[in-house]
Amino acid sequence: MKQFRNNVIRAGLGALYFTGAHYLLRPIFSGVGAIFMLHHVRPGRDAEFQPNRHLEVAPAFLRAMLAHLRSREIDIITMDELHQRLTERNFSRRFACFTLDDGYRDNRDFALPLMREFEAPFTMYVASDFAEGTGRLWWITLEMVIAKASSIEAEIGGIATRLDTSTPAAKQAAFDRLHDWLRALPGEHDVHREIGALCARHGVDEAAVCRALCMSWDELKPFAEDPLISIGAHSITHCNLARQSEAIAKGEMAISRARIEQALQRPVVHLAYPYGDKFAAGTREFALAQAAGFKTAVTTRPGMIFPESADHLTALPRVSLNGNYQDTRIFPVLTSGAATAMWNGFRRIDAA
Ligand SMILES: [Zn+2]
Repeated sequence: MKQFRNNVIRAGLGALYFTGAHYLLRPIFSGVGAIFMLHHVRPGRDAEFQPNRHLEVAPAFLRAMLAHLRSREIDIITMDELHQRLTERNFSRRFACFTLDDGYRDNRDFALPLMREFEAPFTMYVASDFAEGTGRLWWITLEMVIAKASSIEAEIGGIATRLDTSTPAAKQAAFDRLHDWLRALPGEHDVHREIGALCARHGVDEAAVCRALCMSWDELKPFAEDPLISIGAHSITHCNLARQSEAIAKGEMAISRARIEQALQRPVVHLAYPYGDKFAAGTREFALAQAAGFKTAVTTRPGMIFPESADHLTALPRVSLNGNYQDTRIFPVLTSGAATAMWNGFRRIDAA
């Protein structure tokens, strides 16, 4: 199903490109700018089973994107500057922001040199438990469990289920099933219990995975001193905030921010909601982020920035630089807004 959806999206992007429809849609849907969303930036791997591949782009793809924006004379600005331009209604030049979620070390090793080359600022959103080395990147540990197992047993919906994971196709199907099951569990502790049990059974060390992929506070401190870099908050545990009580959701925002400020000795005024889709961040979370004093908060809802976005500064959409579509021909489609407009049924703002 996921593969089917990916193919439809890819065909849609291709159709927009080859028909030139994005040029026609441009005046209506290009908005005033875009916030690009990335996760990992690192050289690609050959493995056939890469269920999280949409969360990583190759350095060459990022470089091509930066060159594209520079050639179109689109300003690459900080989230502070975006906040200022939106509140002052300064739309004389089109802009782009770069945001990288979770706090991966590959961002320092592969993205930062490119961002320096193009003098492009960016914001990294850090989940404080990830920097602490105690975070649970369950979507990655799930991939590792399935990669090494030839079959997996889990109690899905109260029924003991055995999933074949002996071929790449079977692994992908098992990943989709387990991923959907884990994301639908009622509480964060349920996810941790189930993924913890799978990891224990298949010899995957969750804390070691976190430390291998995420920058520690000691690494983040010099990183954050780079004038191109802003650090934002991304909750403590990387939980689905919409599923938490109001008190816990508030704490996830405020405490993660306080921990980052304490560790890095600099103010944190921007937030990214973990997962960030409409099931993980809605009107309550948008209000909580505003009440907590964040200047901006970003979702993973797809969309361009419009003048009206100034009224929804804690519900900002982003444009994903998705590892499944690393084809430079889609750049004009992405910056035209036609792709996200198509996704949103041609609404400009989606903040409810
Ligand atoms: Zn995240």
